[in-house]
Amino acid sequence: MKISTVLSRDNHFELNKHVHAIKHVYEQLSPTQLRKDILRLKEGIEADSGALVIETGKFTGRSPKDKFIVEDEITRDTVNWNDFNIPISSECFDKIYSSAVNYLETLDEIWVRNSFGGAREEYRIGIRSYCSRPFGDLFAYNMLIRPTETELENFKPQWKVLWLPELKLSAEFCGTRQENASVISFEKQMIIITGSAYTGEIKKGIFTILNYLLPQQHDVLSMHCAANKGKNNDTALFFGLSGTGKTTLSADPERSLIGDDEHGWADDGIFNFEGGCYAKTIDLSAQKEPQIFAAIKEGALLENVKFFPGTNKVDYSNKDITENTRVSYPLHYIPNAVIPSVGNSPENIFFLTCDAFGVLPPIAKLTIDQALYQFISGYTAKVAGTETGITEPKSTFSACFGAPFIPLHPGKYAEMLREKLKKHNTKVWLVNTGWTGGSYGTGNRIKLDYTRSLIKAALQGELDNAEYTKLPIFNLNMPVKCPGVPEEILNPENTWEDKTAYKVKLEYLAGLFRKNFNKYEEGVENSVRNAGPEEV
Ligand code: ATP
Ligand code: MN
Repeated sequence: MKISTVLSRDNHFELNKHVHAIKHVYEQLSPTQLRKDILRLKEGIEADSGALVIETGKFTGRSPKDKFIVEDEITRDTVNWNDFNIPISSECFDKIYSSAVNYLETLDEIWVRNSFGGAREEYRIGIRSYCSRPFGDLFAYNMLIRPTETELENFKPQWKVLWLPELKLSAEFCGTRQENASVISFEKQMIIITGSAYTGEIKKGIFTILNYLLPQQHDVLSMHCAANKGKNNDTALFFGLSGTGKTTLSADPERSLIGDDEHGWADDGIFNFEGGCYAKTIDLSAQKEPQIFAAIKEGALLENVKFFPGTNKVDYSNKDITENTRVSYPLHYIPNAVIPSVGNSPENIFFLTCDAFGVLPPIAKLTIDQALYQFISGYTAKVAGTETGITEPKSTFSACFGAPFIPLHPGKYAEMLREKLKKHNTKVWLVNTGWTGGSYGTGNRIKLDYTRSLIKAALQGELDNAEYTKLPIFNLNMPVKCPGVPEEILNPENTWEDKTAYKVKLEYLAGLFRKNFNKYEEGVENSVRNAGPEEV
């Protein structure tokens, strides 16, 4: 295919020429050196735990509307152009690149780093990142895969990431929506990020590249999921949209963490794309999430959190800047992490959904067709806004539990998943980490302890021969009993006082699923289509 011819092209020389004209070029700094630079430039403050606290400014989350893929010979007929895969012309990319180069000329300092995307040698890409601020480079150190000394000597950068948060583009000149943009060129093998200091743009930019390359070049299924393994080397994957529990539930003291967000599934097993974790810290507590809490120490980078007044102690309940407060840390900060981060093909897969309507069961066992239906649907529901009086949850359907990051048609990933589920006889579970006892406003979020117990039971095979009942309309198989969990919550209907209201909400959600699935009707087998909720 066309991509491989481009992979060998070397346009690093051009960029390096501009970079090396900068007075201070810091290459491959250690976290200790970066910490000094962050403090010197007053970009961050040290918390009592030793972690650094920084603010990302105007952007405290990704900006999907400003993420572009260059439409060229390579991408034109392969990318599934949509609201997330927004095309931009090569001419515009060249203008953005020249704006970046002009901006580089104004800098005194730049932080440069070589890393890998992908834990397995045969599938990984070499990445050279250029950050105009040191905290971006610390993020790259924490989150990407750190090469060994020997690997550094022979390092071949294939992709370049230019992270220039202070650069404001002229939207009119560059053809972008506004002054910030995240632009991927497969021809130039470059990501340019401007106008936003939200570090997550870096990792999700690289994820997008791997989601494009791996299925096409290597027959590897790329997935937005966390992974861990048990003492018998049994792997589990946790898929889910933002906030559904991938990072939280994969950090399990009884199992070894492979990764918390992005993985590939090759014929002979799975592997992480990253070298670190990026955890949400809102309402974090040592008691509920001990591993993540303990990882917030020297070297960790906290974003957009506030201290208790007059102290350097982080108040994790504070939402003054954003609800999306985060921390990045290297994978080995989690005590039992697997490095290199690889594992066997999964025995169990959990699809996590945070159902704020409170109608889906805490756990259900899916058939292959139901699994594909859920995978293509990618459902979650969030609490709509924080304005008083607005309590109606807002549903999100995001194909493959990661629509903003998948450049190919969802059908491609679904097809690969079907093959793999069959081949490896993988069990798939739907887990509602959201509401129980009513929708948001009436009910409560299911206790983290209960979710952990449900997952543990599934992993230990305790639900294999259990008795099941069916959730009406959705036809999902729900276990009647599960150790460590009150029996009455396993069937959501029991937890609602108003049974009619329950039925109405269940039907309402079924309608949302069906409406969303309409757009996939054509490319999907009947058996998958019929595995969704029934018409009522
Ligand atoms: P992202 O893709 O944005 O990284 P994620 O899927 O990794 O999202 P988490 O960081 O794990 O999401 O966030 C889940 C949040 O929900 C955490 O703050 C966690 O404490 C909270 N939570 C509350 N109840 C539960 C539950 N029952 N199961 C999982 N998480 C829960
Ligand atoms: Mn996460």
